[in-house]
Amino acid sequence: MTTYDVLVAGLGGAGSSAAFHLAREGERVLGLERFAPVHAHGSSHGRSRIYRTAYFEGPEYVPLLLRAQELWRELQTSTPEPIVRPTGGLMIGRPDTPTVAGALRTAEQCRLPHELLDAATVASRFPQFDLRSEESALFDPNAGVLYPENCLRAQSAGAVEAGAELHYGEPLVSWTASARGITVRTRTAEYRARSLVLTTGAWTRGVVRDLRLPLEIERQFMFWFPANEPELVSADRMPVFLWDAGDEFQTYGVPDVGDGVKVGSWRGKFSRTPERADRELHQSDAAPVRAFAAERLRGVRAREREVVSCLYTNAPDRHFVLGPHPKHPNVVVVSACSGHGFKFMSVLGEVVARLATGEAPGFDLGLFDPGRFGRRPRSG
Ligand SMILES: Cc1cc2nc3c(=O)[nH]c(=O)nc-3n(C[C@H](O)[C@H](O)[C@H](O)COP(=O)(O)OP(=O)(O)OC[C@H]3O[C@@H](n4cnc5c(N)ncnc54)[C@H](O)[C@@H]3O)c2cc1C
Repeated sequence: MTTYDVLVAGLGGAGSSAAFHLAREGERVLGLERFAPVHAHGSSHGRSRIYRTAYFEGPEYVPLLLRAQELWRELQTSTPEPIVRPTGGLMIGRPDTPTVAGALRTAEQCRLPHELLDAATVASRFPQFDLRSEESALFDPNAGVLYPENCLRAQSAGAVEAGAELHYGEPLVSWTASARGITVRTRTAEYRARSLVLTTGAWTRGVVRDLRLPLEIERQFMFWFPANEPELVSADRMPVFLWDAGDEFQTYGVPDVGDGVKVGSWRGKFSRTPERADRELHQSDAAPVRAFAAERLRGVRAREREVVSCLYTNAPDRHFVLGPHPKHPNVVVVSACSGHGFKFMSVLGEVVARLATGEAPGFDLGLFDPGRFGRRPRSG
């Protein structure tokens, strides 16, 4: 039986980054992935992700966000494929919505550069957006686009280059932990390691059953609307956006980076497991997004050219799960999703590598404690 320093289960956004950082630090790493490299069954596909820093979700995220941006820029130097593209970002809505008020609070508290714009100013500076007179927008100059598939490829290539072994099509089936180490079983092999990192995305609840994590899978759709004014909606002119458009319709979008303007909404359908997620597009999913694109965006056609489904893994408080397993300090549990985790993947790899090697994480992770849900771990 082969023995490793650290075993990483799940090689999506978080796992490929963890494997990369661990291997760079000289750890002997084995990564196990259920599917092929860079697949579309989980949460890290769809050709673009938004990054931003005036974070309405809370100022606690800002130190991680700033380090994540440094690491994305560093990753960019390792590959000719695009990793990161600054565009600036608009958080749009009535001034009292969490999207605008929360972003402003974080920007002020953390002294981040920002501008608060009224609807008339947005109309002249960013004519791609049709705001109502009572809406405003917070402009975050430190926002832009990440290219998730390229990020995963670059992180995985970096891990292999630094000596990690990555096995695809070999899911972790079970694991046990004790103070002496970890044993992991797959259908074909058994592996031993000092530490285990569980970065299994939408499958996490089933992989760490004893924690009874209250994670819910939310199926989402991404829509691409073709440009009819390409110069208006190109990434050179159009910022990424989050928009609280009223009537509980919250949406986000990415400018045309070669395939049309991408729009998604935060109105998904829930299931307990990824296998039970309904991947079919219904009229009730499509109608509000099409109406939004037709009524509130300029420079795009009203009918999408493509729709792709993707999974969120949501914690009830919408914060991440990140930290040592409460009963097994040599097992690190990571579910950094709740719909907003991708921009953190670069720094999460660094943090997870520190946790898995017994170092201090370097950031306050109190908000993300896997034991915070008040459920006692099952014994055994
Ligand atoms: C539509 C959509 C839009 C989003 N937009 C944004 C955005 O704009 N900005 C942002 O920051 N975030 C965004 N997010 C969130 C972000 O993409 C996720 O937080 C992130 O991709 C989660 O990464 P992950 O590593 O946890 O999951 P994944 O990348 O899905 O990785 C989990 C991996 O574990 C593997 N696995 C599962 N079980 C096992 C097992 N037993 N053994 C081995 N491998 C296993 C899976 O196959 C998978 O590859 C969005 C998400 C979606 C769905």
